[in-house]
Amino acid sequence: MAHPLRLGCIADDFTGATDLANNLVRCGMRVVQTIGTPPSPLAADVDAVVIALKSRTIAVDDAVAQSLQALAWLQAQGAQQIYFKYCSTFDSTAQGNIGPVTEALMQALHTDFTIATPAFPDNGRTVFKGHLFVGDVLLNESGMQHHPLTPMTDANLVRVMQSQCQAKVGLIDFNTVSQGEAVIRQRIQALKNEGIRIAVVDALSNDDLMRLGSALKDLSLVTAGSGVAMGLPQNFGIQPSAQASILPAAQGLQAVVAGSCSNATQQQVAFFKAQGLPALALDPVPLLKDKASYQAVVDAALQWAASHLAQSSVLIYSTATPEAVKALQAQHGVQHVGERIEQALASIAQGLVRLGVGQLIVAGGETSGACVQALGITQMHIGAQIDPGVPWCHAQAANGGVHIALKSGNFGSEDFFVKAFTQLSNATAS
Ligand code: ADP
Repeated sequence: MAHPLRLGCIADDFTGATDLANNLVRCGMRVVQTIGTPPSPLAADVDAVVIALKSRTIAVDDAVAQSLQALAWLQAQGAQQIYFKYCSTFDSTAQGNIGPVTEALMQALHTDFTIATPAFPDNGRTVFKGHLFVGDVLLNESGMQHHPLTPMTDANLVRVMQSQCQAKVGLIDFNTVSQGEAVIRQRIQALKNEGIRIAVVDALSNDDLMRLGSALKDLSLVTAGSGVAMGLPQNFGIQPSAQASILPAAQGLQAVVAGSCSNATQQQVAFFKAQGLPALALDPVPLLKDKASYQAVVDAALQWAASHLAQSSVLIYSTATPEAVKALQAQHGVQHVGERIEQALASIAQGLVRLGVGQLIVAGGETSGACVQALGITQMHIGAQIDPGVPWCHAQAANGGVHIALKSGNFGSEDFFVKAFTQLSNATAS
């Protein structure tokens, strides 16, 4: 029976949205992820919707406008609590966008208090005395200080958040969090009395996240990475359950499209080939020439796939070594190379679905974005996790339903491209 939407989530990027959706499903919520704010009301009976925006590094005003539009849609679906999700390394520019979006959402929700914490201990993100650790080192020593778009040079999140906000920012430290719900609530009240409107929260363990979760029950807005989400389903009486991740039965042919050149993806490609399974390496050079040579590569790849698909899963990849990637980029430009290959793989994904592929794995964050767009996918039901952070999803594509797994570069075990299909058949067999 349909019930009102419990959690309405706004994520500032695509793979981050999937990460959050995955955590919610693991905690028993039935979740749909949408690509952008949907134009029409929610058609599915689910506990949470995660709207994936691409607002992390765009201009502040645009990020605020898009987030408010997402909020309005979620409110129209009756969402009982709003969750603004950002990266577990608090990726933001000097201008924001975490602070300004948080304040705009607070204003729209008429709320005078929220929290902010990217803590996700399972992924090595802990916050201690307001300082974010990535594994064993502070954020600003983790490599994130060199990020091309969002260099993070200060691990003190109270200071970082304060620099992006008008409102006063404070701290709920680990000592408070470790004492549980009642003490956290007291601290929230004390901070509010001091005029503090946003509190960075320490969390060192999943137990901290669960204690924090219960204390956040009455907040209309929570802002966090994906970790805090683990403590929220309990507030709605929802317990972890395999029911939450049930997807329609797997059908159709099986294919993998890989545009990621990460170490993990390289190993996954090698593993697939070592099993004697059919794999086709795309030659990127003709893709960068004229339209006719580009189209010839795409057509040849699909013809090749058509001759193998009936017998087994197939892999089509542009995955290459860092040296090969660098050489190509030096000759043709980083952006041009990236876009052309993404487009080619997206056209191939489209062609594969036309050939009857109903189970598709895409490797690469940007590559996934291009494929989802080419397939006309606007929303996905989130299923069981294959490996941490990568669930199977089910989407309506142009010609029917398709199971799709979007693997960002460094995720997944070596045998991912093989085990994911086995897992899907087992999970959806009934
Ligand atoms: P990841 O998640 O590993 O970062 P992405 O798909 O986000 O993967 O990014 C990989 C980028 O590399 C894409 O823009 C893709 O088009 C590009 N690319 C893929 N294959 C090659 C190649 N052989 N040479 C150069 N660039 C490539």
